[in-house]
Amino acid sequence: MSIAFISDLHLTPDQSALGDRFNDYLNDIALLGIQKLFILGDLFEYWLGDDASEHLGQSDYERILKDTSNTGMAISVLHGNRDFLLGSEFSRRTGCTLIKEPFLLETQACKALLLHGDSLCTDDVEHQAFRKVVRTQDWQLNFLRKPIKERDKVAQTVRYRSEYGKSIKPLEIMDVNQSAVVDEFNQTSARVMIHGHTHRPGIHRIELNGRDTAYRVVLGDWANAPSAALLNNNLITLFYGEQREELDLTQ
Ligand code: MN
Repeated sequence: MSIAFISDLHLTPDQSALGDRFNDYLNDIALLGIQKLFILGDLFEYWLGDDASEHLGQSDYERILKDTSNTGMAISVLHGNRDFLLGSEFSRRTGCTLIKEPFLLETQACKALLLHGDSLCTDDVEHQAFRKVVRTQDWQLNFLRKPIKERDKVAQTVRYRSEYGKSIKPLEIMDVNQSAVVDEFNQTSARVMIHGHTHRPGIHRIELNGRDTAYRVVLGDWANAPSAALLNNNLITLFYGEQREELDLTQ
């Protein structure tokens, strides 16, 4: 069975080329018979709660996801640093399953740890502080109780709305911290990790304790072209732009 992985589409209703790219990709993998798709965070540019989907103009994308789910493809979504408020109503409308990171995917070929990636960017101290607050149930319940317009206003002043910080520091400028990556591997028997967030696609080899080899597969963003990884039997292929990289899991 083939499994596909994507992240960091940052969908907004005002970018029709990006929307077409997303739609075409879903149609393509459905035609290829791919039955499992993992979306590893930042599917949407930002999210104000499931009841604000129409307000943000994201309903068309929800319909595309629903249509794809209806073809029989199992779509799993985990939260990114921008769409961490995706909830059960989104899940019900789209047929997508929300999963929590780190998610351990076990296949015949490998065990793979799936994450968005922002938790590994521990050098971004400001983001980690923000993340700690907004990922609490208290903050989220309080935020979601506010009228949508007020939420939108709050989002403009905090870090997960795109406009903020563009002139200061793009959210994804920081790369992962190597010891955070090693720590993550040390907590699991998985020796493959797949994540996005940094917009620095590539496959990295990591030596753990000088003897154990692990691999980190980083998905790219979708600003100019689709980026995806495909796990097929014992091979992971990463696509970004004109580039492709392969990881043979039997080696
Ligand atoms: Mn991100």
